[in-house]
Amino acid sequence: MSETTETIFSKIMRREIPAEIVYEDDLAIAFKDIHPQAPVHILVIPKEPIPQLASVESKDHALMGHLLLTVKRVAQQAGLNNGYRVVINTGSNGGQTVNHLHLHILGGRQMTWPPG
Ligand code: 5GP
Repeated sequence: MSETTETIFSKIMRREIPAEIVYEDDLAIAFKDIHPQAPVHILVIPKEPIPQLASVESKDHALMGHLLLTVKRVAQQAGLNNGYRVVINTGSNGGQTVNHLHLHILGGRQMTWPPG
């Protein structure tokens, strides 16, 4: 996977391509996944184009906390009162396809384990 940080998610952030944005603040934005894998499938991304979890550095610790708190807020807003799953696919073996860090929120159905 290339380390380039210009991705489809940057275009969504800049409103150059449409997406159903459900939350935004100074540091993060959340929008519905275009190919939902559950009744609720939302992606939370940092505005800073960090390529993947493996690229995160110590200086990003507050941002990473903010992303998790954003997940909690967005999940609550989506009414996921019975729980949900949070996934960060990382790198090629992790199944990551978009090279901009993103947290999947999956909910609205019973999740199974192990994942594929
Ligand atoms: P990954 O496979 O990298 O963990 O997740 C990337 C996610 O981005 C996938 O679930 C995919 O459906 C979603 N995605 C890819 N392109 C777009 C797009 O243009 N718009 C939206 N809303 N989601 C996208």
